[in-house]
Amino acid sequence: MSGAKDIRELGAATRLLHAGAPPLRGGSGPVNVPVVRTSTVRFENAAAHADHHRRRAAGERLASYGRHGMDTHRALEDAVTALEGGHRAFLAPSGLAAITLVLVALLSPGDHALVSDSVYSPVRRVDATLLQRLGITLEYFSPSKNDWAAKIRRETRLVYVESPSSLLYEVLDLPALSAVARQHGIPIATDNTWSGGWFYQPLKLGANLSIQAATKYIAGHSDVMQGVVVTDSPEWTEKISTAYEALGLTIGADDAYLALRGVRTLPVRLAQHQRHATQVAQWLETHPQVSRVFYPALPSHPGHALWKRDFSGASGLVSVAFEDGVEARAADTFVDALHHFGIGASWGGYESLALVASPERLREHSVWTGTQPVVRLHIGLEDPADLIADLDQAFARVAARDRLAAA
Ligand SMILES: *Cc1c(COP(=O)(O)O)cnc(C)c1O
Repeated sequence: MSGAKDIRELGAATRLLHAGAPPLRGGSGPVNVPVVRTSTVRFENAAAHADHHRRRAAGERLASYGRHGMDTHRALEDAVTALEGGHRAFLAPSGLAAITLVLVALLSPGDHALVSDSVYSPVRRVDATLLQRLGITLEYFSPSKNDWAAKIRRETRLVYVESPSSLLYEVLDLPALSAVARQHGIPIATDNTWSGGWFYQPLKLGANLSIQAATKYIAGHSDVMQGVVVTDSPEWTEKISTAYEALGLTIGADDAYLALRGVRTLPVRLAQHQRHATQVAQWLETHPQVSRVFYPALPSHPGHALWKRDFSGASGLVSVAFEDGVEARAADTFVDALHHFGIGASWGGYESLALVASPERLREHSVWTGTQPVVRLHIGLEDPADLIADLDQAFARVAARDRLAAA
């Protein structure tokens, strides 16, 4: 960049493009940082090696070994830090690894953490298979009820949330949660995967740690597994850094590059996901075989007012509940009939996906009291008219099956 302005004064999209841009060497250079793969770092002499070690131990972001990553990793960390408006970013081999890193970094035997009950379900598996064994207690609370503060104990060391939540996009009042947590000196960590960090800035609304599955929108092309943790201050950077080192976490430079390449176009991809998803969600709302559409940008969504206050956009996830009385099998018939939607977990790539939400997962969310089958759609960058026509014929297949069953 030209160096005319402090990067912090620039617009968010400009910052995202400039963060971690490689300096010109000898008068020229590439646009983005290339893939710098290495397992070890070579030094000119023993003194330079010792100097690097010393400066790294004092907190400088230098690599004295391959596990620390080099230019590609640094550039991605800078871009993600700029994206989330944070202090430091840590790169993990998956979104789930980023979540586990935060939980293990902040919680010790005897500690208690409060977790919103609509979180990404594998958090409960980390709880059951790892944290309980370490003597750590997670307690789940309904983020839409106002009674959670009464659950705070003397040994509560973390509030862990996700907004909007998985599957039904329950929107949390993060400023209100954080005001209470702050009074008790408890940090808040939040899963920010849904917004890609572009439509939501939880660190500015009181969270201390923002986690993303970079697998989803940051990478954006369904070709890499990755997680990021962004801290708001040196205090949490130090905590995360210590656990990160102890766990020996690192990611490959090729994967770092894929995410770095993806994140530069995050704003335009998300704007298009939003346009398409809004069209599909509005169409779904008018469909006679649908009882509810879950999309925070729809005025009918329970969290719409909070979403409007705290978010600058909505991403590509839309969930749809069939009309009352429809059998669970209808959801399978529906997704099997789709041509333009892959059937699969994950999301955030350029393509559309459909997944039948498991009733057991939905029941974990206290806001879900329905009995209808639910399908989660990720609305990709295909022409929305094609997606709508595809959904329409899939509904027709479900209706035809019901007529057959009734005959
Ligand atoms: C996918 C996802 C994760 C986990 O990411 P992986 O890279 O698949 O491990 C975490 N949180 C949310 C909200 C997700 O959707």
